[in-house]
Order: sequence, then structure tokens, then C-alpha cells
Amino acid sequence: CVKLMMPNNKEMPRFSARWIAVVVLIFVVSGVFFFCEYLIYFPTILKCAWPKISHVRGGEGIDGRPMDSTLRAMVLSDTHLLGAVGGHWFDKLRREWQMERAFQTALWLLRPEIVFILGDIFDEGKWSSQKDWEDDVRRFHRMFRHTTDTELVVLVGNHDIGFHYEMDWFKLQRFEKVFNATSTRIVTKKGVNFLLVNSVALHGDGCPICQSVERELIKLSRDLNCSLQQRSLVPLTGCSAPQHYPLYRVSDAGCTGQDAAPPEERHLLFREKYDVLSKEASQRLLQWFKPRLILSGHTHSGCEVLHDNKYPEISVPSFNWRNRNNPSFILASFSAGSYALSKCFLPEESTVIAVYCSAGACLLFLFLAHCLWMKGLLQCFSLCLLGKHKSL
Ligand SMILES: [Zn+2]
Repeated sequence: CVKLMMPNNKEMPRFSARWIAVVVLIFVVSGVFFFCEYLIYFPTILKCAWPKISHVRGGEGIDGRPMDSTLRAMVLSDTHLLGAVGGHWFDKLRREWQMERAFQTALWLLRPEIVFILGDIFDEGKWSSQKDWEDDVRRFHRMFRHTTDTELVVLVGNHDIGFHYEMDWFKLQRFEKVFNATSTRIVTKKGVNFLLVNSVALHGDGCPICQSVERELIKLSRDLNCSLQQRSLVPLTGCSAPQHYPLYRVSDAGCTGQDAAPPEERHLLFREKYDVLSKEASQRLLQWFKPRLILSGHTHSGCEVLHDNKYPEISVPSFNWRNRNNPSFILASFSAGSYALSKCFLPEESTVIAVYCSAGACLLFLFLAHCLWMKGLLQCFSLCLLGKHKSL
């Protein structure tokens, strides 16, 4: 009986140590995963704050937030939800999870009153079948769900309906039906006007969609007192123009900052009607509306440009980690007469990968140490070395 009991008594500590190792392993792996995929967005976005407009009537509230006279607008761009054809399923899953967590955390922490997405919502809207389109739209609504306190305004981009030569009424109307609005219109909130433009249709070649958009723009420019001259007489007017294509600029050579285009790409010349709007279309927009601020996407990189020494434009980088290591969005405080901007950077992909790699290296080290300890290999190893030493 005593002999039979002995092996069990000897195995008990091995069994317990193995289970402790498994529990530690599960705890560490799930902790790292939870941090990298969920928690990391909170400290990063908590560092961001709404910019203050110092001379707004009413000033700040008790908690430092702008008071009700200020409109809190969040601006992001180029989400490029992968479609059914391009991209690996894991890439799709990961990018959409990242964007969903970033957006939902930003909504919860920052509570914007209006959110603009500056086009290229979908990567394959330009060619997707009706079934694939509906699937893309369903995932978009899940990712960018929001309460009625926040208004979501979506602009059209070339990946949503195709470049000018691919665009047709079917794709445009399909997009407008999903987002329940025409792509060229004025949105007014708290007395602040935003001119939304279907910039894909500003080709100026007289195509039916281009003609329709131009007619609408002429009508809007007449209806709105957006000119600088009128603004100086009536300070409570003035519009901002979020759109997909940037106004014409030669290249990104003058762009600076941590999210500007890489140095080797900055000097590449932009092609009119492809990378940026044509010179003519850009001038027409500026002359008709004299916007106090232009916000654009499409280039996937950040930039600040001043057109004609008086019209500032901000290029908003892509919100998708597939396009950037460091996506970001713009926080804008608008009053009817003024505005202030700040940029909110999201967790860098390289940081997340570094955390996973460090955790993996630590676990590998612990696993090896555990194996060596359990199997007594250290002792074996030293005995072997000793044996070799003696034989020498
Ligand atoms: Zn684009």
C-alpha cells in the first residue's frame, strides 16, 4: 500500500506547477490581448481635448468644455472598409475592429455633436455587387453606430461611386439612399453652415452628374451668404467645406508634421482630377463660397495648406490602420463666427505589435525556464559539460 501511494505523492507538485503555469499563461495572454484590442484606445483618446475658442460668447463651461454656443465636430476620413474582392479576411476583421473600437471610444469619451466622414467609406463601392454592397453597408452601420445625440454626416468619395469615368447615376443614388441625403447640400447645426460637395463630380466636362452638381452649387452659393465680404458685414454667417478631394495643390512638398506623406512621396506631383481637384474647379469653389475652412481627405496623409493666402485647408489622414501606422481624426470647435481645431492621434500599429512581440518573448522565456526547471535539463546540461571537461 505504501509503495502504491508513493508515485502519486511524487506527482502532485508536478501536476500543480503545470496548472499554475497554464493559468499564468492564460492570464497573461488574455490580459495582453484585452489591452491591445480594447483598453489601449481609452488612455490614447483621453489625452485629446476639444480646442477652445477663446472669444466665443459664453466661453467655457465648468468642466472646461465649450459651452452650448460652440458646436463640437469630429472629422475623419477614408475608412476604406474592405469589400468582398480585395484584402485578406483577417485584414478586414482586424481593421474593422480597430476602427469600431476607436470610433466608439471617441464617441463615449468626447461626445461630439456632429461627425463628418469625408468619403471613401468603402473600398469597393465602385464595383461591388448589390449583395456585397448591402453587406458592406451593414458592417458600416454596426461599426459607426451612434445615439441620436450625435449626427453622422457622410460624404461621397471616389471609392464609393468610382472615379469620374466610373461614376454613374445608379452608384450615386445607391450611396445617397443609404445615407439618406443628397451628396451636395448644406448642413446647418447651431447656426454653423457646412457646405457638402460631391467633389467626384467637379470634373467640369459637362457630364450629366457634373452638370447637376454644378447647378446645385450655383443655387447654394446664391442662397447662402458665404462670401468673406458678406461675412464681415454679418459675422454670424460663414461656411466650412468638408469634401473628399483636396483643392488643387502641386504636391505635398510643403506638408509637415508626424502624419504628413513620407519624404519620398512628398515631392510627387499631384494629378488634377485624380489626386486633387482641377485648378478650375478649385477656383470656382473658392470664388462661389469663399469658405472659412476646407476639410478634405483622399490623400490618406495630413497637411495644412493656405490657398490664395486666405483660405485654409486641412487634409485629414485616413482613419484606417491599413493605410497608416498612426491614424487620427480632427476635433473642431465651431461657433458661427469662429473655429478652432486640434488633432487626436490613435494608438500606433507599431506600438501594438511591439507589445505583442514583447509579451510573446516573455512567454517564450518563461516557457523555456519552466521546461528546464521541470525536466532538470539544467542539471543534465551541467553534468554533460562536466563530463566533456573531464574527458578533455
Ligand atoms: Zn479617394
